[in-house]
Amino acid sequence: NLYKTSTMTDAHERSFIMVKPDGVQRGIVGEIIKRFEQRGFKLVALKMVTPTRVLLEQHYDEHQGKKFFEPLLQYIGSGPVVAMVWEGLNVVSVGRKMLGATDPAKSEPGTIRGDFAIVTGRNIAHGSDSDKSAKREIDLWFRADELAVWTNSAERWIYE
Ligand code: GDP
Ligand code: MG
Repeated sequence: NLYKTSTMTDAHERSFIMVKPDGVQRGIVGEIIKRFEQRGFKLVALKMVTPTRVLLEQHYDEHQGKKFFEPLLQYIGSGPVVAMVWEGLNVVSVGRKMLGATDPAKSEPGTIRGDFAIVTGRNIAHGSDSDKSAKREIDLWFRADELAVWTNSAERWIYE
């Protein structure tokens, strides 16, 4: 291709998206993957793991000391999660919109939390809140060789 428009060259932003243990238990893993796939984002990495306490202390470092910190670590550490990396233009901010507000009572219908959750302490999924957080979280959860290198053949129909 002789020219690539800016949207295509900016299309390599990445976000760390995780289906939390409640999302796994309630059978919503496929639904969440489906929404990101159908939007046009590219799946770069995926694994099911039960995260260690050490990993979660790092992942949720900004919340250390808050009253919900211990319950949060118990909740996320209780069972397997599905950790993923999704790639695409503005995937961090669009991913957060797709998740909906942290408190599902304030999440719009049509969002993941707005469709499948009721309380903040069981809000189904996580998404990075900035490009910086995304890089930090992807580094924390994945080794470099776990990130797939591939070209989506539909790219030219997703980006102009
Ligand atoms: P997020 O970025 O939308 O996930 O929200 P935060 O970074 O503020 O919080 C991280 C996670 O901690 C949330 O997704 C909730 O699972 C949990 N959490 C945040 N605030 C509360 C709270 O007030 N009560 C409880 N039980 N959990 C909370
Ligand atoms: Mg957060």
